Amino acid sequence: MDVSIAHASDRGPRGVNITVDDGPDPRWTPQVLDVLREYGVKATFCMVGTQAQAHPDLVKRVVAEGHRLCDHSVSHDTSMDKQSEAYQKQQVLDAERMITEASGGVRPMYYRAPGGAFTPYSRTLAASRGMRPLGWNVDTKDFERPGTDAIVATVQREVANGPTVLFHDAGGDRSQTVEALRRVLPWLTDQGYSFGFPVR
Ligand SMILES: [Zn+2]
Repeated sequence: MDVSIAHASDRGPRGVNITVDDGPDPRWTPQVLDVLREYGVKATFCMVGTQAQAHPDLVKRVVAEGHRLCDHSVSHDTSMDKQSEAYQKQQVLDAERMITEASGGVRPMYYRAPGGAFTPYSRTLAASRGMRPLGWNVDTKDFERPGTDAIVATVQREVANGPTVLFHDAGGDRSQTVEALRRVLPWLTDQGYSFGFPVR
């Protein structure tokens, strides 16, 4: 098993991995899914356990449309790396179970620590469950709602630095994210990128 934090794309050097964090959310996840479907893009959804448990229909839709699941902990505690191993274990494994139950048995293939707060312990634990630790290269900062133009510009400026791009489909009004995806996905295709999944 590989306990290192994955960034590369399974589509090679011109691959891009779209990752969507913190959902599922009943308002925004369907809109994100609609845009991804419109452009034929498969993405990786890093789900919060309590959100998955609350919205199993959305988890099932994500899987049915060909996307992959990622464990993003039970409660998105960004101080995870300062907590006990017992706490980390509960956060990682309970979320894995909540997401798997919500999906109808499809297991998350990755683990992304909330806020990137990985520890050697949580990486090893996740990997032992078949969940590759997952990082990112391009933080679109969409969570802070800088405006659609700024989100698009960040992707255009930084995608050459690495293939894994971070978006959010929960945690507030994500209309800028939806609109940015609508512009970024065809732009990436025009630039010769193809869409893949993070390596495992
Ligand atoms: Zn997050």
